[in-house]
Amino acid sequence: MNLAMILDMVADGMADRVLVGDREDGLTGAGLRARATAGGAHVAATGADRLVYLGGNGPVFPVALFAAALAGVPFLPLNYRLSADQLAEVMSRQDAPLVVTDTPERTPGARTIGVEEFLRLPADRPAPQPSHEPDPDAIAVLLMTSGTTAAPKSAVLRHRHLAAYVLGSVEFGSVAETDATLVSVPPYHIAAVANALSNLYSGRRIVYLDRFTAAGWLDTVEREGVTHAMVVPTMLARIVAELRASGRTGPARLRSLSYGGAKIAEEVVAEALRRFPETGFVNAYGLTETASSVAVLGPDDHREAAAGSDPAVRARLGSVGRALPSVEIEVHGADGRPCPPGEVGDIVVRGEQVAGEYVEAGSVVREDGWFPTRDRGYLDEGGFLFVRGRADDTIIRGGENIAPAEIEDVLARHEAVLECAVAGVPDLEWGQRIAAFVVPRPGLRVEAAVLREWVRERLRGSKTPDQIVVLDELPTTPTGKVLRRELVDMVREG
Ligand code: ATP
Repeated sequence: MNLAMILDMVADGMADRVLVGDREDGLTGAGLRARATAGGAHVAATGADRLVYLGGNGPVFPVALFAAALAGVPFLPLNYRLSADQLAEVMSRQDAPLVVTDTPERTPGARTIGVEEFLRLPADRPAPQPSHEPDPDAIAVLLMTSGTTAAPKSAVLRHRHLAAYVLGSVEFGSVAETDATLVSVPPYHIAAVANALSNLYSGRRIVYLDRFTAAGWLDTVEREGVTHAMVVPTMLARIVAELRASGRTGPARLRSLSYGGAKIAEEVVAEALRRFPETGFVNAYGLTETASSVAVLGPDDHREAAAGSDPAVRARLGSVGRALPSVEIEVHGADGRPCPPGEVGDIVVRGEQVAGEYVEAGSVVREDGWFPTRDRGYLDEGGFLFVRGRADDTIIRGGENIAPAEIEDVLARHEAVLECAVAGVPDLEWGQRIAAFVVPRPGLRVEAAVLREWVRERLRGSKTPDQIVVLDELPTTPTGKVLRRELVDMVREG
């Protein structure tokens, strides 16, 4: 299976169904194939070896994704927020790119085409031949990781990985024609690729929201009859805050709201459940390297956890759920063997959608098929996965390994704390000291001594932050990941 075959299935099986954009004048299955074929022919005619996309969210995204597949070249969506230097560096690594963009001045020297022009290419050329059946092993998509823990790398996703994700997560043409999903994650994120493919395959119309605001998101849900949506945790927190401020509940027509891509505060989830009484929630855990979600906490899990009296069941609101049926997840100890339930170790993933490969470093999948996620965490007795953060974020203070998440969870329970992040800062005496960065709730004051005591009472003394830094907001990536390196740089000298 490859992306060209997925497009054919969608175009043949749902030729007249509107699948992308507005209800009234969006692209049908047949329209999507016509546009993608014209785009693919153009890419092939220019001799490009990559189709780069530099821009916001919109119908051009699936068209360009499939056009690249038809032309047999990798699709590389880039972050439009990259600085001129970062962009120049990425572009210098591409041999013969064609860039779809409305800001051609940002990629000097590269061949470009505007978004509207790309979407209106005449369909008078035959479909590009060599690529009509791309090899399932060919590269479909290249994605830059966001570089929260290290320099950004280009993750390689082959056709077979994306196809395995789609086939493992949804059924072809299985949803009602009135279903619509709202995509507001940025186009250079794996969730945008995964959402485009799985929604189109299942027959669900995709509505794109280019610039996210909570009010705009809520309006679009109402206006477009949105039944499903996917957001990152920061977006969910803002949507919940908007509903709280206006005293409203979430739109009842929204049947499913997925969140994921970064850690979320449990309180935000608990409040979201209250503010969206008619909506089923899904927490999705995955990595770029695993072609998106590998574990999900589904609507029933959310309801059971929220209503549960058993503490072990209630705790699952803070988990990322269980492995998808097509994926295996284990937690390994330092000896490489599975840990017993409850014990923290390295999260490893195995399955057909797991790519685990970078342009710069090649494959990092082990011989036995396990891909090390570099996340730490544990499984409970029921197989629910709890993510405790990145191995690279582990603080080693005086020889003791400390997971920032453990301290963050305790701090987040204090009434004066709106958001927080904990990081290790180089320290002459301890190797690393613990710094906690805290955003206070509006109108409340944060007292460093009080917060330190709060943590000391609930965790061991060695886990008490050495330093509390009060901030107006935490630096995050657009996908809601806290930029710990920036936090550490703020206090490194102090
Ligand atoms: P880099 O590796 O350069 O830091 P990145 O963090 O952006 O890049 P992604 O593939 O986008 O790479 O992010 C994957 C990581 O995001 C996971 O390893 C995990 O730490 C975190 N993550 C993803 N989904 C969830 C979730 N539902 N809950 C908690 N953490 C999550």
